Amino acid sequence: MRVFNFSAGPAVLPEQVLRRAADEMLDWHGSGMSVMEMSHRGKEFISIAQKTEADLRTLMAIPDNYRVLFLQGGAMAENALIPMNLLGDKTGADYVNTGEWSKKSIKEAKKYCKVNVAASAEDRDFTYVPPQSVWKLDPNAAYVHICTNETIGGVEYHWVPDTGAVPLVADMSSHILSRVVDVSKYGVIYGGAQKNIGPAGVTLVIVREDLLGRALAITPSAFDWKLQAENDSMLNTPPTYGIYIAGLVFEWLLEQGGLASMEQKNIAKANLLYDYLDQTAFYSNPVAKADRSRMNIPFRLADTSLDDAFLQGAQERGMVQLKGHRSVGGMRASIYNAMPIEGVQRLVEYMKEFERSHG
Ligand code: PLP
Repeated sequence: MRVFNFSAGPAVLPEQVLRRAADEMLDWHGSGMSVMEMSHRGKEFISIAQKTEADLRTLMAIPDNYRVLFLQGGAMAENALIPMNLLGDKTGADYVNTGEWSKKSIKEAKKYCKVNVAASAEDRDFTYVPPQSVWKLDPNAAYVHICTNETIGGVEYHWVPDTGAVPLVADMSSHILSRVVDVSKYGVIYGGAQKNIGPAGVTLVIVREDLLGRALAITPSAFDWKLQAENDSMLNTPPTYGIYIAGLVFEWLLEQGGLASMEQKNIAKANLLYDYLDQTAFYSNPVAKADRSRMNIPFRLADTSLDDAFLQGAQERGMVQLKGHRSVGGMRASIYNAMPIEGVQRLVEYMKEFERSHG
């Protein structure tokens, strides 16, 4: 029996994708092999990689002057690779600090460049996105880095900053493909795959072409975006099976009506949970209403001594991975694209029932 899996990542994948991968496991399209067993330079895998990229370009309406890279190392590696690839002859970069993932990006970047924290939400315990009017941007920065969805704090940008001529770099790991994005407003969009894209192991980098060629000499070749772009992400062996599953997810998203349709579904799912959280004192969510994430919804029970009983009851009703991140405690429901509305309905029904019996 499949459970409703609220994990923040690796996370639930569409059942149709898993079934299709299972069907194609031993013999992909008459090739007599599994995708895992194919040479990345063979015609079968090249066709998979090309279709995967083409479908992503369609889904996100990626302009022609952007390159799409499928790399390894996760978003965490990119935190180091961003300064390495973008500094050129500059010495510093701007970062906006909206929570745990911003902090990790800042910490990593400090190893390679001067970091200017242009704004921080620390004054209100990372429960909001500082408006651009308070940002102190450095006009000489190599780039401005933001995390557009803080997976742990549940804070999401619902607007796009204007950084003028300085490229905007966004860690979109935990909400990419959940909503329509105007790619042309960004210099770089990056993220790990294990939430809305596919299995862990694939790292997506979408980079505007004119930003290629600024890498520091110490940048490892396998992580030099220009070299990878010149080699269609095949300078070395790419994460082939993960790319194949990502391709199946992209096909599924297109069948669902694309990102505009997913966005409407995601709004409906998030509203279901937030509407309930806002009308009870038994549970609470600390995030400013305008900045709440549609993907990751942290909440607390007013009486934390009931946490274990809550999680146990959820498990018994087929809902797993609701425990909040170890750094913040409480609960967190991650409701990515592949979480059906029925999962959120069941969660809200259970939360009401638990409130009735323990409130
Ligand atoms: N950035 C965000 C917003 C995340 O949620 C995560 C966690 O998965 C990461 C970065 C780190 O990604 P990875 O584990 O793929 O390195």
